[in-house]
Amino acid sequence: MQFNSVLDNLKTYEAGKPIELVVREYGIEPKDVIKLASNENPRGCSPKVIEAVRAEATKMNLYPDDSMYELKEALSQKYNVEDKNIIIGSGSDQVIELAIHAKANSHTKVLMAGITFAMYEIYTLQTGATVLRTPSSQHNLKEMLEIYQANKDISVIFLCVPNNPLGECLDAKDVYAFLDQIDKETLVVIDAAYLEYGAFKDPAKKIDPRDVISKYPNTIYTGTFSKAYGLGGMRCGYGIAQPEIIQVLLKLRAPFNITTLTLKAAIVALSDQAFVDASVKENFEQMKRYEQFAKELGFKTIESYTNFIVLEFDASKNSGEIAQKLMEKGIIVRNLGSYGMNAIRITIGTPEQNSRFFELFTTIYK
Ligand SMILES: *Cc1c(COP(=O)(O)O)cnc(C)c1O
Repeated sequence: MQFNSVLDNLKTYEAGKPIELVVREYGIEPKDVIKLASNENPRGCSPKVIEAVRAEATKMNLYPDDSMYELKEALSQKYNVEDKNIIIGSGSDQVIELAIHAKANSHTKVLMAGITFAMYEIYTLQTGATVLRTPSSQHNLKEMLEIYQANKDISVIFLCVPNNPLGECLDAKDVYAFLDQIDKETLVVIDAAYLEYGAFKDPAKKIDPRDVISKYPNTIYTGTFSKAYGLGGMRCGYGIAQPEIIQVLLKLRAPFNITTLTLKAAIVALSDQAFVDASVKENFEQMKRYEQFAKELGFKTIESYTNFIVLEFDASKNSGEIAQKLMEKGIIVRNLGSYGMNAIRITIGTPEQNSRFFELFTTIYK
């Protein structure tokens, strides 16, 4: 059968390997499998969320409130914006998808960092648009600007602050200086999936969505409940932009795109900031252990503003083999081989999970 030709060379997104797969393939008990591959919150989510979702379970027969009024209210209070500035997605992934589909087509190009979130490319290629990347793997705004100025048909630019899968983060003031140079017809997506982490580690990284969208009406700020809030399994994210942008994205949105239980979970999660704060704090305490560990074993890391860290190996080691050996022993990490790197990305786990990682890694890394 003939399909849209843009799909011919499109690869399917490869998600982090699930615990179930390791249980099936290597016969390890589920309780002994540690997943440090998808940047989930190892502490789970707020207990208040679990309680509220349990109570809400009796309402599964009902479609969710499609206006998502209560969640938008809670987000508008948090960010000091209005409901009309907000769109809710099934993960911020969905908001990113809608944003690309609203702007990109086969006559345009989409600009992003050398190594960044894989979904930007996949959604771009679906539209027939061309992907442009900076030569540097990490975000380099000078290179981005040069490419932008040399190409008049760039419809969307992605800034992943902090960046997944590498962990680096631009300073807010540099992002603003960059935005000053961008035409108002070009949509700039500020993907802030890890901003709770970045802003905690260094306040110079904090981008305020209200401020950025009022100064730059061509931007959309995206956030998620999947990382610091610990709700990856619930699929909830949001976009904050001027109503002109939000109204267009709403035309592309499927009705009831998040569930009744998801809505409840996100609303209650926003009310428990203490849970997020404790998670973020512990994350960076534990990250120090990884930095120390890497130093002792003599491999490079990239300074991380997220809940994961990249370990780079020299040519005597192979990241794919290391990831495979770890998996056979029950620890799932992300091999960055497909990004052309000899490196693995490890989500920072609980103190116990991290101890287990160091122990196991030492036995396989001889
Ligand atoms: C995890 C992640 C997202 C969003 O994830 P959702 O679960 O779809 O909300 C977006 N961008 C980056 C860079 C991410 O790592």
